[in-house]
Amino acid sequence: MRDVSKFVQGFKRFQHQYLGNRHTLFDRLVEEGQHPRALMISCCDSRCDPALLTDCDPGDMFVVRNVANLVPPHTQATFFAATSSAMAFAVRNLEVEHIIVMGHARCGGIRTLMANRPPECDEEELIAKWLGIAADARQRVLQELPGKPAETQERACEQAAILISLENLLSYPWIRRRVHEGSLALHGWYFDMERGELLQYQAATGKFQVLVPNFNLYEEAASGSRVMGA
Ligand SMILES: [Zn+2]
Repeated sequence: MRDVSKFVQGFKRFQHQYLGNRHTLFDRLVEEGQHPRALMISCCDSRCDPALLTDCDPGDMFVVRNVANLVPPHTQATFFAATSSAMAFAVRNLEVEHIIVMGHARCGGIRTLMANRPPECDEEELIAKWLGIAADARQRVLQELPGKPAETQERACEQAAILISLENLLSYPWIRRRVHEGSLALHGWYFDMERGELLQYQAATGKFQVLVPNFNLYEEAASGSRVMGA
């Protein structure tokens, strides 16, 4: 695609839906400002648009997107300030009640992290530096799943990296305090685009479990087994 007309046409549809005659939502958002209840930290991946995936309206969700949906630890907050300053704004100014870290299947960032090839140019150096935030996730996977297929290790690392980000969120004193006070809740989500399901990290089990199942899959499996059994 060499031009951006698809996006311009898309804005026209958005304008018609939200800014045309039925513009009460945006009137309120302009007059009263934004009051999103959640901060979503998600990947830049073009298949993982948080507003689309959660069917949100404008104003519902404050979003930070970066490669592999990583949260730098507090000790590196000023070095990776784009993400940490957005977190600070969401927590301090907007007083969000939830922070959701949403990872996803088939993440190119995590695949790059697992491959661990030495950077050969400035672009790769930048990406490697950033992905280094999740280096411990890679180590955990290599220790727990040695010799497994790359896809298995990558999926495990996608989920382990979410846990690193959740741990890193708690390294910020102003986040930790609010979590302990009960005014802020942290969530780890995993968009399984292969199965069309949303998973959530359950601290009680230490695992990601299906939060929104894709019932079509189970119906297909059931009808398949009937066919096989017939
Ligand atoms: Zn990704």
